[in-house]
Formats: sequence, structure tokens, C-alpha cells
Amino acid sequence: MSRIVPEVKSIPLTVLKTDGRMMPFKIEKIVAAIEKANHMNGQSDSEDAAELQNIINKIHIQMQSYTGEKITTEAIHERVESMLATSELTQTAANYHQYRLNKRKARESQRSIESRVQSLIQADETILNENANKDSRVFNTIRDLTAGVTAKALGLRMLPAHVENAHLRGDIHFHDLDYHPYSPMTNCCLIDFEYMFEQGFTIGNAEVEKPKSIQTAAAQMAQIIANVSSSQYGGTSADRIDELLSPYAQMNEQKHRAEAEKWVQPDKQADYAWEKTKKDIYDAMQSLEYEVNTLYTSNGQTPFVTFGFGLGTNRYEREIQKAILTVRIQGLGKECRTAIFPKLVFGIREGVNLRPTDPNYDIKQRAIECATKRMYPDIINYDKLVALTGSYKVPMGCRSFLQSWQDADGNEVTNGRMNLGVVTLNVPRIAIESNGDMQEFWQLLRERIAIVKDALVYRVERVKEARPENAPILYMNGAWGHKLTAEEDVDTLFKNKRATVSMGYIGLYESAAVFYGPAWEKNPEAKAFTLEILKELKRNCDNWGNEYGYHFSVYATPSESLTDRFCRLDMEKFGEVSDVTSKGYYTNSFHYDVRKKPLPFEKLDFEKDYPVYSSGGFIHYCEYPNIRQNPKALEAVWDYAYDKVGYLGTNTPIDKCFECGYSGDFNPTARGFECPHCGNHNPETCDVVKRTCGYLGNPQKRPMVSGRHKEILARKKHM
Ligand SMILES: [Zn+2]
Repeated sequence: MSRIVPEVKSIPLTVLKTDGRMMPFKIEKIVAAIEKANHMNGQSDSEDAAELQNIINKIHIQMQSYTGEKITTEAIHERVESMLATSELTQTAANYHQYRLNKRKARESQRSIESRVQSLIQADETILNENANKDSRVFNTIRDLTAGVTAKALGLRMLPAHVENAHLRGDIHFHDLDYHPYSPMTNCCLIDFEYMFEQGFTIGNAEVEKPKSIQTAAAQMAQIIANVSSSQYGGTSADRIDELLSPYAQMNEQKHRAEAEKWVQPDKQADYAWEKTKKDIYDAMQSLEYEVNTLYTSNGQTPFVTFGFGLGTNRYEREIQKAILTVRIQGLGKECRTAIFPKLVFGIREGVNLRPTDPNYDIKQRAIECATKRMYPDIINYDKLVALTGSYKVPMGCRSFLQSWQDADGNEVTNGRMNLGVVTLNVPRIAIESNGDMQEFWQLLRERIAIVKDALVYRVERVKEARPENAPILYMNGAWGHKLTAEEDVDTLFKNKRATVSMGYIGLYESAAVFYGPAWEKNPEAKAFTLEILKELKRNCDNWGNEYGYHFSVYATPSESLTDRFCRLDMEKFGEVSDVTSKGYYTNSFHYDVRKKPLPFEKLDFEKDYPVYSSGGFIHYCEYPNIRQNPKALEAVWDYAYDKVGYLGTNTPIDKCFECGYSGDFNPTARGFECPHCGNHNPETCDVVKRTCGYLGNPQKRPMVSGRHKEILARKKHM
């Protein structure tokens, strides 16, 4: 469509927006609104371009001669409406009127509890499938969703008006509105299990003592995880669990030794005790796997749990690592289904397991086998992660990373710290809106960043209103490394940058595509542009951190539902923009366009520069064909990645059909996935596992939002 450009120059008039913000008057916004109104009604152009141009000029002159200092948005729209109504452009006038009406209705409906619950009852796909980890058929999920839409409508009204507006418009996304700010809940954390085990803790009415065997320690872990997961809305992580559980495995061995001294010949006592201990370790890790997969939190989802392991080198630690991998390779139940929780993250470190001469190289081989068969473990490269974030640790949830932090005594602390929430910026929209004008892009970006700041500061202020009794497991029983009294201030655990709060971003690919075309990956200017965006985000986050005393971090948003939501809203707003909205989804954070087919090495080389400015959360993946027969190929990529990226996941086809025995990649169809051999798509007799965001999911059992489904269909293998 040809753009209508006003013939008069811009004027210094301030517009008072409905949410209280002041913006300079821009005639282009009125032009865009009229075009959008026409577009929404299926009309590609105004019936008379010359007449429309004439009206735009008239409005502009009227505004120029406006004598007041400020004018409200409503007043401007009323003028436009009446101007159109008295013109020849009857269709455009009707469209514009309808457009204004729809906008008002949509906004009211988002804030109306009744209309949100109505949508839920009418099974609105965007509500039901928002989270791939929830089974929307079961009672407690339905109940949780109902509570969620209610909390969301109420939460929206609590937000600062301009933040609410920006969220509803799709300029930003205020994540997890179904929990926060309605309740002052936090996002994700690393649990301080060591502190809890050592100190003993309380769950409900039960006093729990320090465990005396690995089985008890593992059982307690499962209980703590369930409890923590119900007290926050994001992921729960356990770091270095081989090292954490090793002292308890040692207790098992001591018991078996004592027993052996009574009953076994002296030369066989040590072997006997060790064999028994290995069996205990395996059983404990197997129970933990089953526990986590059978757990349901109060909101009807399997808890988002991540286990980090792999760096311990004593024999207990080695045995625990081997057991975790063996249990995962084995699979769940008699059909040996792939466990999608806990997410496994395996640490790789030079001198520990990287090279054939390292003591744990054999365990790395098992980790590779496990990844080719079950996709997990993802890997963390020790040295690179330390370079990026200042210290080694597993992510909180699927990809949120804490940054190095020392307590008052100078000790490096990771366990017991948390993230307070995420707000994500719709970067592709800014690129579209700037109409190819770079200066306009940076101006808009800065305006939107300012809104994200207000949103994040509000998040922090709101979580500080929690009282320790709201979540005893977190604040009073030690999951966060302290036991606060009921009267203490929860901020004790957040302030001085102990907690992080994150600004997310999405669609760097689409943003650069607007300016440099769809194949910009090898264009240095385009890449510098995308990096400059992240630097701008980071500069702001660093400043806010110093201003407020919380760690504001830049986060590569995975968002299960956002890839769909932002793109859908921009499609409504701007229509089909080729390679941007036309795909039906936005690309995850800084990731390589999934439709292309770079080698894994090329992909890693391209992506490795981004986490430097996005250390609050990131992950890279490579897509492989079936590599079960070729584990060395995967190892080659892992080794190549060691000094380049901090955190890497494997995507490979591991779907299984229990009707015909097929194993490999199920065919994507419009409604889900089916066996390419026999056409089976019954979730009861097949096991389909895809990476929906940082986590794996079972899309056949729990469908994804359509944007994510389209994105998965578009993924190309990198080998
Ligand atoms: Zn089949």
C-alpha cells in the first residue's frame, strides 16, 4: 500500500495519552491508524487517496493552529472521526469508527473477569495452550486456569496505567500475569538444599532431620521441589546434585561396611559394600526421576525442575552421575518413554571430562549417548559460563542465569538466590514502526525501554510486599539459604543485587530483516545492528541495577506463548510483513532463523556473540537428524562449542510409535504430529518429544500455541 505522507512539517504539540504519558504529536500515527482500520476491514486502500490526503492535511493544519499546550488522544480521535464522517470517504469513516470501538472493547474485555472466564469456557486456544507443561483437560488445571484468568484481569488493573497499556498493545509483555502482580510471587530459583539438609527443615507440620542415606536425601529433595514449585511460578533448580548427594551415599557405604564386617569374608568386604552402595545410588536416582515425573504442583503442572551435575570426581559423585544418565537412557515405564522432567544439565570442564585423558571422560561419553536418545542432558561449558556470568551454576528454570555475587563475608553464593520476574520487549514491532528510519528505531527503542524499566521496578516493589509466611518454604524454612522470622523483611533476600529481575527481548532476526532483508546473517552491518540493540538493553539494565540495588539482567526470552502473541498482535496491527509477521511466529531471542540450514558450527559462530550482552539468560540449540548411530558427530559439536558458548542443547528426533515400532521424527501436521509409517497420532500409543522452549514437551499430549507449532514445523536440521 502506498503510504500517505503529510505535506506539512511536524509541530510541537504534546499529546496526553489515556495512561497519563505525554508524547509529541505525530500526524503519522493518525495516518497509520486509518490504514490499519481499513486493513482490518479487508480494504487495502482508501476509496479516494487524494481525498484522504486532503483530510490528513486538514487535520494537520487544525492541530497546528491548536492553541492549547496539550491535547488528549481521545480528543484527537474525535476530530478525525468527525472529519471523516463529513467527507466523501464513507467506507473509511465506517472502518475507522469500528476500529476505535474494537480497540476500546478489547481493552475492556482484557480487564473484565467475566469476559476472560467466558473465553476460557469457550476454550480459547491462546488461554488453554499457553503453557505446554499443563494438561488442560484435568480438574486442577481447569481450576488453575480459572484462577489464572481472574488473577490476570485483576493484576492488569494493578499495573501502572502506561505499563498495562503497553502490555495490552503488545509493545511489551508482562510475563506470568496469572500470578503476579495479583500475588507478590517470585519467578524461579536455585534451592539451597545443602543448607536445608544440614539445618533440618519443616514441611507442613513435619519436622525433617538431616538425611542419613542417599535414598532419604533424594526423597527429601522431591518433597522440597514440590513445595518450592507451588510457592513460585517459574522453574526450580538443583545445582551440582552429584556433589550435593555424595556425602549421603558415603553414609550408605559405611552402613554396608559395618554389615559386611559381620557377615562377609575380610577380603570381600570392601567390594560387597561398594556393590551395595552402587545399587542404592541407582535406586535413589531412579526413585527421584519417577517422583519428579509423578509430582503435580497445586496448579496442575509437573514442576519445572532442572538438575545440574557432572563436575564431581570422587567415586560417589561419579556413580551418581552415571546413575542419572542410565536412568534417563532407560526411560519411564514399560514403554520406556522419554522423561521430560527433570531437565538435565551436564557440566563439561577441561581437566574433569572434556578430553579422553580426563578422569570423567567415560561419563561424558554416556552423556552423549543419553543426548542422542533422550535429547537431555543439555550441556554447560564451565570456562565459558564463568567468563559470561562470573561464576559456574546451573540455570534457574530453563535458561535464567544468576550472576556472580558475594555475601558480606566475601563468599561466592549461588544456591538460595532467585529471579523476581521478567518483562519482554517486542523488538520487531519497533523495527516495523520505524518504517526503515534508523533514527526513529533508536528513539522508539529508548521510549519502550523506559516503559520496561517502570514495569520491572513495579515487579520488584510488588514482590517486596510479600511476608515470610506467604511462602514458608522459601523464606522461613531455608530454601533460600536463610530462615527469616515472620516479622522480617523479605527484601533482606533480594536487595544488594542478591536477586535478579530481567528485561527480555524477542525477534532480533525479524528486527534486522526489516532493515536488511531476510538473509542478513552474513552482513556485518546487520549483525552489528542486532548487537547494538543488546548493548543498549544492557547499558540500561546496568544503570538501573546501580540505581535500585537489584540485579537487572538482559534475558533471551524463550517464552512458550510469546513467540505467538507478539507476532499475532503485529499481524493485526501491520498486516503481513514478509519474513516478519508472515511466518506466524517470532524468532526466539537472538537465535538463527530456524528456516535456514547452517552447519552447527556456523550457527554457534553466529550466535556466540550475543550472550555477552545477554548474560541474564540464554541457550543455544542445534538441530540434528537421528544421531543414535553417530555419537561422535555430536561430540564434535560439543567440543567445538566448548570455548564458544556457555550453554548448549541438542534437538534430535526421538519420537516413538508403539503401534508399529517406528522410532525417529514424527510428521508435523496442522493439528499435531503423526507416525510417518502408520499414521498413528494417538498420544496413548506414541511418544512425541519436542523442545518447546528451553524445556522439552509432549506436544501430542499437550498441544502448543499455534505460533510455537509453526516455529517447530519450520525448524531445519543443521547437519
Ligand atoms: Zn507407527
